[in-house]
Amino acid sequence: MSGYDKIIRNGLIVSEDGIRKSDIGIRDRTIAEIADGIVGTAAEEINAEGLHILPGLIDTHVHFNEPGRGEWEGLETGSQSLAAGGVTTFFDMPLNSTPPTTTPAAFDLKKNAADRKSIIDYRLWGGMVPENLDELEELHKRGVIGFKAFMSNSGIEDFGYSEDVTLFQGMQQIARMGSILAVHAESNLITQQLSDHMKQNGRLNVRDYCDSRPVLSEMEAVSRILAYADAAKCRLHIVHASSCEVVSLISDAKKRGIDVTVETCPHYLSLTVSDFEELGPIAKCAPPLRDQEHVESLWNLVKLGEVDIIGSDHSPSPLHFKKGKGIFEAWGGISGAQSTLNVLLEEGYWKRGVPLEKIIKTACVNPAKRFGLDKTKGSISIGKDADLAIIDLKQSFTLKESDLRYRHKYSPYVGRTFRGKVLLTISNGNIVFGEKKAANEALS
Ligand SMILES: [Zn+2]
Repeated sequence: MSGYDKIIRNGLIVSEDGIRKSDIGIRDRTIAEIADGIVGTAAEEINAEGLHILPGLIDTHVHFNEPGRGEWEGLETGSQSLAAGGVTTFFDMPLNSTPPTTTPAAFDLKKNAADRKSIIDYRLWGGMVPENLDELEELHKRGVIGFKAFMSNSGIEDFGYSEDVTLFQGMQQIARMGSILAVHAESNLITQQLSDHMKQNGRLNVRDYCDSRPVLSEMEAVSRILAYADAAKCRLHIVHASSCEVVSLISDAKKRGIDVTVETCPHYLSLTVSDFEELGPIAKCAPPLRDQEHVESLWNLVKLGEVDIIGSDHSPSPLHFKKGKGIFEAWGGISGAQSTLNVLLEEGYWKRGVPLEKIIKTACVNPAKRFGLDKTKGSISIGKDADLAIIDLKQSFTLKESDLRYRHKYSPYVGRTFRGKVLLTISNGNIVFGEKKAANEALS
């Protein structure tokens, strides 16, 4: 019996099949043993009696904006905030960094920054824009996790939206490479015309903004991209679906054999247009927040397993991009990456009885499987990376600005009370958030 770097004793280990009490032995960044009463010594022991141990979350959707707009968030503060929320791997979107990750040189630049600054593991999305179809192959060789395209205006000048020919030609290439396309699916035509109409008629409040980006606009774009995915035989991932109608379209497509998955975000599962009216631009996102009935029906689809992945779509900016502007002009993007697990525990596990097994499926297991990381990540099994979140379901807290690790300390979740607290986050066997004593203290 050889020694371990760490032994975590008596934790309740959550897998997609159930919860069981066991010890975890970690050696060389890896889960080396899972057993009752591991015999052996460790440089460090953690007593997790009464605590739940989840696989570290995989956040498939963040915008850390570095290089170029690091002052909006940055890889250091971004990764620290994820670690504080139990996340151990993130996929960074190709925008709103500048240059955007649409060329091999831009990929190298971001990778270099992330290697130096991120405290957890990461992968990079490549961008697909009308100008870079001949760069996709090289980006794929560099190791992008997949490609991201916009079907409507991205809000950032250096990342154009893809019209139909670009989408279809790009998808044919992506299919040949065996990669995957993620799309922001809102109709450019519908959102543009409705936004213009609102502005021309002086309809400039929160509800008007939401009405300018209706569910119908998502449904039209999703239906179109599903047809292209089918024709091109391209793997497809729809990001940030805001409503059950959109998820249902995707469920139907799966039944027809289309290789598609769907993501929703914590804000669509916890915030409504009324919250947006109260909070103002810090709750602005696209697609916009919907009404309570949409929140409830999305949760039902999570319970049914029809939502594959929950990602934060953390998209922060300096506060002056939000404050003092009209709703249509304010930066659209929600700061929420640190709170994903808290939202899922409070709104899902506690309020709606969603089992922990289901929660980790959408936040750990499915992301790893869909993006080919499941040999090393996504569940607590022998041989996988020692990426863990140790949580105390019994502790509750009210989120304060000073708790936030973001560069800009605002979030629509400030002031909310959450049951379930992340005590320790372990990435590749190292503690990246919390202190060992915090886990022990929770016992007494
Ligand atoms: Zn996004």
